[in-house]
Amino acid sequence: MALDQYNKRPEIIKISHHHIESKQIDKAAKSIINQLTEAGFEAFIVGGFVRDSILGLKPKDCDVVTNATPEEIKNVIPRSRVIGRRFKIVHARAGKKITEISTFRSSSQRETKRSHKGILLRDNNYGNIEEDAFRRDFTINSLYLDITKMEVIDFIGGFKDLQNNILRSIGESSLRLTEDPVRILRAIRFKAKLNLSLETELEKEIFKLAYLLKEVSSGRRYEETLKMFLTGNAVSIMSEMQNYNITEHLLPLTKGYLRAKKDRRLIFNALKNTDKRFHQNKTLTPSFLFSVLLWPALINKTGELNSKKEKIPKVSKASNIVLRRHNEHCFIPNRIQKSIKEIWEMQIMLLRIPEKSKMTLKHKRFRAAYDFLILREKSGENLGGAGDWWTKKISS
Ligand code: ATP
Ligand code: MG
Repeated sequence: MALDQYNKRPEIIKISHHHIESKQIDKAAKSIINQLTEAGFEAFIVGGFVRDSILGLKPKDCDVVTNATPEEIKNVIPRSRVIGRRFKIVHARAGKKITEISTFRSSSQRETKRSHKGILLRDNNYGNIEEDAFRRDFTINSLYLDITKMEVIDFIGGFKDLQNNILRSIGESSLRLTEDPVRILRAIRFKAKLNLSLETELEKEIFKLAYLLKEVSSGRRYEETLKMFLTGNAVSIMSEMQNYNITEHLLPLTKGYLRAKKDRRLIFNALKNTDKRFHQNKTLTPSFLFSVLLWPALINKTGELNSKKEKIPKVSKASNIVLRRHNEHCFIPNRIQKSIKEIWEMQIMLLRIPEKSKMTLKHKRFRAAYDFLILREKSGENLGGAGDWWTKKISS
């Protein structure tokens, strides 16, 4: 929908309709908002917290938005620091918890910088709440909670879209996805997580513009990949990524194997486990995730090298090649790459059972490598009972 078609007078939604109770709001966010308002600023909760609470789900975090600039926020909130360049925000720390505080932005051209393809490179153009509402990605993410009145402020019709389970861009989808192609991944993530339908135009543009994902910085792509797979909806997100042809842009080395029955089973079993662990509050590591997603490519590459009769250890060489290729699309930080290689190399160690088993048990990557071994067996590989052997060894 074009922006000029929106009615700009906000709708105020009372607690009897949005059902968010004050006791649901986390203490850190409340305290930040109180400090900012006492200092004379406006401050609200926005985004995922409001959206998920209205749907009756447990929100992941609580984002605060204000008319104070990052520097002003820093002066008011103790233990806070300004981060980011493309998009400056403030992180406020309370114990282990970090709350993100952003400043109202406007989408006017003054402080925005775009690439020749129309991609937004920098957006530090501050504005008021109404302008801020219109620069957000989707209508359902543009709801503001005023915690003193416990009212939700809706400039764009996000509340109605939420009730109808519709994900709709704010403004024209073609423009909004072009200026920040990460919104394509966010749309897929919200669709899968919240079981939404995509508004027709948005759906059409996702197919058309998915190729722009290659313009997104490698670091942002890595962060988004983690959000997609490590937040409890990995199975449905992977299926949606396939439906919308996103895997070829984000996980090109995995894409082809998702069609092979054996590899697909391994990957989806791992994603199922990941979702289960997430809901049980167990730790999830990027290294385990990527060691699974890139495993079929590694096996393939190792096979290729073996057939060439090279002298260098094959898995180690193959892992360097696979990771290098993957990194061209989505750079994995070096320390994570190191763990992935260790998990892979230990797959061989774990098959040479009685040799040095005590040392193997003490290896810092043993647990991940063992879990991987079990996953491989559960997905149909015959590893000569190695999984059982280690399971007994652990409990003895
Ligand atoms: P969750 O935190 O549950 O993943 P969220 O919607 O809160 O979902 P965040 O990344 O925390 O997502 O962002 C907070 C809010 O900032 C969003 O709800 C949205 O309004 C806005 N936002 C985030 N990323 C973008 C983007 N790429 N373009 C426009 N607005 C964005
Ligand atoms: Mg959030």
